[in-house]
Amino acid sequence: MASLQLYPKLITDALMNVRYPGTGKNIIEEGLLADDLRIDGMKVTFSLQFPKERDPFAASLVKACEMAILTYVSPEVEIKGNISTIFAPAKNQVDPENPLPGVKNIIAIHSGKGGVGKSTISANLAVALANLGYKVGLLDADIFGPSMPKMFNLEDASPVADENGKIVPEERYGVKLLSIGFFVNPEDATMWRGGMASNALRQLITEGAWGELDYFLIDLPPGTSDIHLTTIQTLGITGVVVVSTPQPVALADARKGISMFMNEKVNVPILGLVENMAWFTPAELPNNKYYIFGKDGCKNLAEELNVNLLGQIPIVQSIREGGDEGHPVACDGNTMTGLAFTQLAANVVSATNYRNENLAATQRVHTHK
Ligand code: ADP
Repeated sequence: MASLQLYPKLITDALMNVRYPGTGKNIIEEGLLADDLRIDGMKVTFSLQFPKERDPFAASLVKACEMAILTYVSPEVEIKGNISTIFAPAKNQVDPENPLPGVKNIIAIHSGKGGVGKSTISANLAVALANLGYKVGLLDADIFGPSMPKMFNLEDASPVADENGKIVPEERYGVKLLSIGFFVNPEDATMWRGGMASNALRQLITEGAWGELDYFLIDLPPGTSDIHLTTIQTLGITGVVVVSTPQPVALADARKGISMFMNEKVNVPILGLVENMAWFTPAELPNNKYYIFGKDGCKNLAEELNVNLLGQIPIVQSIREGGDEGHPVACDGNTMTGLAFTQLAANVVSATNYRNENLAATQRVHTHK
């Protein structure tokens, strides 16, 4: 009889029949198979790695793996006694309760409508926070129009994986950046269904090597969709920054977005509103302000809804140029526009601190009850 030729996939497929009783997932999904699978003729050796030092299921899993290989591959495989157990954090294991353990604050940037400057604000806010000395990550989750590769002059970037298989973000102007635009071309992305888009996003969030961050900004696609809800529900979002122009149609959509986040089922704090394109001042008439999209629309909405107005950013040619040239104006913190973003960043920091202090106080009240 011709002897069976063993190869790794035969073994890993068989091991997918073994479930880890702790979670009900198969042991491959659970990340319990170590990287040391060896095949030598009919002899197979590997280790199961457990994140806990003495996992109560270790011995029974070894038996179950032996059985699975003998049953699904061949009874002739020499496996008995060849599976060891080691103590090591499971690779790529993501704690669903806390997928980004090194990240202190996760801030989603939202707009009800496209074209109001959400990406411009996200890019400049990220750079301004980095200039203030914070560790900053930015995820361009605008699946249907990723613009960060251009805004950061990283259109040719193609991020690589690190030794743990995590995607290493690109780094520019002190900001760690991943964009869906690094991986797909925009024409393909627009055809994605909600589920596909949400999955791609989740992957960039949980499989990015983000490391330690003070602020992780997520530039969401405009509008309110299931992508927003999945992102919010996958992550413990600290708060949302809503961007709008002062124009009534934009404000109506901003209001819709805010009520989605404030809905008791979603219940994510709104850190505040940013009024973009608040006015236009021509260079030759520096004291004149023209309220092209209306005056104080976001300021009034913020007052009405009792949320912070985090900043009013004027329409400035250099802001548009900075975006198109891949050098956000916030890189130059001493210019008028750079300062406007520094101020915005400082306000976001205070709103975040205030929110975190309130949360801590509420938790203290609960634990003392
Ligand atoms: P969104 O992400 O909401 O679709 P973008 O950030 O892509 O919007 O902005 C839309 C266009 O408006 C871009 O060309 C951008 O450069 C420009 N823009 C945004 N904000 C300003 C501003 N404050 N001043 C001048 N141009 C701006």
